[in-house]
Amino acid sequence: QVPLKPGRSLMDWIRLTKSGKDLTGLKGRLIEVTEDELAKHNKKEDCWICIRGFVYNVTPYMEYHPGGEDELMKAAGTDGTDLFDQVHRWVNYESMLKECLVGRMAVKPVAAPKVMYSRICRRIQPQPKILVKYTIHLVECFVFSLQWHNVKAFDEGSSCYDWFQTDSLITIVIYTKQKDMNAELVIVDCQGKRLRGEIIVDDCSYLVEVDLDHAVQDGVTVNIAEKVGKVEIILRKKDYIHWKMLGQPLESHNTFIKRMDRGLFYRKCKLVSKTEVTHDTKLLCLMLPKSTHLRVPTGQHVYLKQIIAGTEVVKPYTPVLPFLPLDFKEPSHHDGAHIYLMIKIYSCGLFTQALDHLQIGDYISVSNPEGNFKKSQVQTSEDVFLLAAGTGFTPMVKLLNFILTEVSCLRTVKLIFFNKTEDDILWRNQLEQLALKDKRFEVQFILSQPTKDWVGKQGKISSSLLSEFVKRSRKDSKVLICICGPTPFTEQGVQYLKDLGYSQEEIHAFTA
Ligand code: FAD
Ligand code: NAP
Repeated sequence: QVPLKPGRSLMDWIRLTKSGKDLTGLKGRLIEVTEDELAKHNKKEDCWICIRGFVYNVTPYMEYHPGGEDELMKAAGTDGTDLFDQVHRWVNYESMLKECLVGRMAVKPVAAPKVMYSRICRRIQPQPKILVKYTIHLVECFVFSLQWHNVKAFDEGSSCYDWFQTDSLITIVIYTKQKDMNAELVIVDCQGKRLRGEIIVDDCSYLVEVDLDHAVQDGVTVNIAEKVGKVEIILRKKDYIHWKMLGQPLESHNTFIKRMDRGLFYRKCKLVSKTEVTHDTKLLCLMLPKSTHLRVPTGQHVYLKQIIAGTEVVKPYTPVLPFLPLDFKEPSHHDGAHIYLMIKIYSCGLFTQALDHLQIGDYISVSNPEGNFKKSQVQTSEDVFLLAAGTGFTPMVKLLNFILTEVSCLRTVKLIFFNKTEDDILWRNQLEQLALKDKRFEVQFILSQPTKDWVGKQGKISSSLLSEFVKRSRKDSKVLICICGPTPFTEQGVQYLKDLGYSQEEIHAFTA
């Protein structure tokens, strides 16, 4: 982010877009834009950008762009889709820039093909024989009617899933052949008759998306056979009637594409509680719909979406635990029905102000998880250092829980927590208690704007501070250093760590 001039906040932009001013210079006309024409508009005072085949005149937006004018100019007069996707594909540009729409590209720029059927066929093949055997076993209890349906893939290749029914249940079976398949890699939403089941396989996503043949009851069960990578999605029929088909395939049904190319999916979650953590930070508890199966993996974030002054605004937040479990003997199990978010409310913040005005019982849209942290990065670490600034603490919460419960070779985990004042320290009490309870865990608070009474460490992230606190417990011990906070804090921290001799593989920076 770059500092924006006064009067150039997102809210100011939204106001401008609602003012009725002609922001394209075309008096509301939409035109077809050739590549040559697009290329002509490549200056700050006349800048057009193409995103997914649509051309926007972003000249009036220049001063409002949080990333700065130079970033926007990188795509001036060209197709900026890839650049946009790399930096913030979650931003709803259609809504933000709708008043800047110039028109469509006359010839749509060729994007990489989205569907990779060859990979589907190689990687996810149905195994009818095993399925039938399994089915017989499954329905031993009471079989009313049982039928197998091999569903054809959209236009080629073979199907990646199967389904069958008993008198009361619909079971969809997906074979991923992924040995480490787990509940975090399966996201299911059943809204009315619309079923959407997404399976994450490495950096790809497989989707079952149908308008079901008949209505189902609230609730969904997901069973996973981790070793063979088999996923079952089980729905309960509303009426005990025979289904002729699973349902009508929807647009992205039975596709296996890069995760990046799959649009973010949102479901509405109910705000069930809001508690104070500090003077400006709150812990929000959101309840997932009954027919949603969603577990946010450690180190990943979700996007919240609100309509603010008629414009869709999206911001990322990192789910935490409801509290820091003090006994790390067992992995902490959650009901899976709630998502906890620790959110700092900024007095001038567009999104957090709107969030703060939500009442208990109100709904907010929550996306599927994203993020590039992998548990395997920490699984064999002996010394872990967590460098957090302000709400940059949020990814550390689940991470700490995971490290202390599941990293068997762990010797030490140290949290170095940077804040302005004592009042800003999140979960200080819980962290101190945990440090007392578990000898492997240590916490160090560092304040940049302490009062006179503060006897602890003072300062900002620096090379000398890091060399004092980040040390291997023994020569050559395997280290992981995770860092999260304001972007400049994270960037400086990574640089200092590299200067101190830590390698890229030993550092993980949480970013958007
Ligand atoms: P903004 O309207 O963006 O403003 C925030 C403050 O910064 C205000 O004081 C504003 O005046 C100032 N400001 C904003 N932009 C500029 C600018 N360009 N120049 C000068 N001043 C500016 N936050 C949490 O609280 N909890 C989380 O768990 C969390 N997780 C995150 C995960 C990720 C991956 C990322 C990238 C961010 C996360 N954040 C989290 C931050 C969150 O996404 C929002 O940025 C934050 O809530 C502020 O949003 P806002 O719209 O209220 O504030
Ligand atoms: P804050 O209270 O403003 O700052 C926390 C500490 O960081 C303070 O000591 C502050 O010192 C220091 N700091 C701030 N900017 C710095 C900089 N440029 N260089 C060095 N130190 C700096 O922090 P916050 O308001 O909670 O903000 C937290 C940030 O973390 C947000 O930007 C949020 O987007 C980000 N975040 C990211 C993720 C993710 O996964 N990527 C997750 C959660 C939060 P000063 O006294 O000098 O300000």
